[in-house]
Amino acid sequence: MNTRATDGLVAPHGGHLVDRTGLRPEKLDRLEALTLTSRELSDLDMLASGALSPLEGFMGRDDYERVVDEMRLARGLPWALPVCLAVDRAPQDDQVALVDESGRELAVLDVDEVYEYDREREAERCFRTTDDAHPGVARLYAQKPLYLSGRVTVFGRAEPEFPQLALDPTETRRVFAERGWRRVVGFQTRNPIHRAHEYLTKGALETVDGLLIHPLVGETKSDDTPVATRVECYRVLLEGYYPADRVLLSAFPAAMRYAGPREAIWHAICRKNYGCSHFIVGRDHAGVGDYYGTYDAQRIFDEFEPHELEIEPMFFEHAFFCRACGQMATPKTCPHGGDDHVFLSGTKVRELLAEGQLPPAEFSRPEVAEVLMNGATSRE
Ligand SMILES: [Zn+2]
Repeated sequence: MNTRATDGLVAPHGGHLVDRTGLRPEKLDRLEALTLTSRELSDLDMLASGALSPLEGFMGRDDYERVVDEMRLARGLPWALPVCLAVDRAPQDDQVALVDESGRELAVLDVDEVYEYDREREAERCFRTTDDAHPGVARLYAQKPLYLSGRVTVFGRAEPEFPQLALDPTETRRVFAERGWRRVVGFQTRNPIHRAHEYLTKGALETVDGLLIHPLVGETKSDDTPVATRVECYRVLLEGYYPADRVLLSAFPAAMRYAGPREAIWHAICRKNYGCSHFIVGRDHAGVGDYYGTYDAQRIFDEFEPHELEIEPMFFEHAFFCRACGQMATPKTCPHGGDDHVFLSGTKVRELLAEGQLPPAEFSRPEVAEVLMNGATSRE
């Protein structure tokens, strides 16, 4: 069913892995420079590495319009979210330099098109809301008024915050192939991993060869757990509770869009580029507030033909420790009532930590709770 790449893994989206890294052009100094936002910088880095294959640059109008309307690129290939560069006006020349906030030159873009877009329509279609209290919508509404499209050549990659975890798709694929994995499940997270996530990642791993724990390290909301604390949680958890030869921990450099269902599709497609054949989709994946229904991010996969995405979503329920079952379970597997279940909301966990209390061992591994406690106190 799945197309195989030469490494024995699932083929990248569109058939081959894009590589938009290249040499710094000589005439760069004469080019107009565009400063990218942090979201655009994340996208640029993912374009460079092929994480966004088959995209080779920021989207042109045809791709953009069809993605917004139908979740497909102009050529028909599934694609769930715009990857666009917002500008104030059309550039003078046919090339521009892309720079970060410090002015460091990272890439050149061969100007293809400059086009208008409708923010409210993009919000309504992609985020399912035009409410500017939604963090993704707020960011969209604050954008410059035109989109600039074109192929990028990236000669200055962003400095990764966690160099050991910064594996490009070619590198995760190499690791998977070396370990003899063919069926690999990807797990997206922007939160610390508690026992519930441990349970479902291990449940998924039971049926495949390997597990890629792929925490998002790009920009998130300021009230999400800081990335350094999260990375430390993943490290201690893997060290104590996962077999080292079955799990790879690596960073996913994307910025959170909080687009819920569409972002679940987008996350899955990106993970296919990293070599994953399966992808875990939990309840309210990539959601925020009450904007999306509990199962919307799972149901949206039905909008594509079977195997059209060529990455198999694995749907999971919220898990908890059940005292009556004496083990981790979900509403699917446990007949007991809520009184038997140890379940804490993120808010409750933060409250406990703020009071200097560790969450119960049924909820968090003690090593993880310890890291969270240290993270909470060091922020005060
Ligand atoms: Zn039970």
